[in-house]
Amino acid sequence: MNIIFVGPPGAGKGTQAQIVSKTFKIPHISTGDMLRAEMDSGSKLGNQVKDIVTSGKLVDDDLMNQIVKERLSKSDAISGFILDGFPRTLNQAESLDEILKSMGKQIDRVIYVDVPENIIVERLSARRICPKCGRNYNMITDPPKEDEMCDVCHVHLITRDDDKPETVKKRYQVYLELTSPVIAYYRQKKVLFTIDGTMKMKDIEKHLIEMIKGRK
Ligand code: AMP
Repeated sequence: MNIIFVGPPGAGKGTQAQIVSKTFKIPHISTGDMLRAEMDSGSKLGNQVKDIVTSGKLVDDDLMNQIVKERLSKSDAISGFILDGFPRTLNQAESLDEILKSMGKQIDRVIYVDVPENIIVERLSARRICPKCGRNYNMITDPPKEDEMCDVCHVHLITRDDDKPETVKKRYQVYLELTSPVIAYYRQKKVLFTIDGTMKMKDIEKHLIEMIKGRK
């Protein structure tokens, strides 16, 4: 099963993709996580994209297409994958079609996680991350037991640079301008399924699994 999660930043795509990854035993490929890992390791690629990522802009299409092509050719993606954060532009969506065609594959489901802008801004400004284990918290809906400390590592939680209010606005603008056409692209191909990302996590999980199994 080859799946894409698309939706505004902060819609909960990452959390939902992890659930689907565990349930269907296919890798969760988040291009945002891949770029952050490169930045944290101080690699040449990481340094190249750092300013772009922290300002909320998009990394160059050709570079992203290359990164995803290499990742999809790894052995763990043979029997399926979940893409989260890619494609984010029409150019990336068309390039993904070409990549998959050359591998004799196709996209089975595109899941659009729909969340209105006011909730996105509220969620992203409440998001915190553990700098050690990478676990995400939300100070409103999923706070740590001890104030601003990771439940597992007991270190101070941090706010991602691109979750700061000015950058959140920029990321949302970029999403509207460049990523919403991707939703229309998949709707036209009749592979788009919409999920209401404001529902309770348990309900989202149930709907998602039914959608992917083709019962919805
Ligand atoms: P995310 O964690 O998916 O919100 O991604 C964080 C940041 O990484 C984005 O704001 C972009 O700067 C960059 N990024 C991630 N995926 C892509 C992509 N497919 N195309 C361009 N930039 C990306």
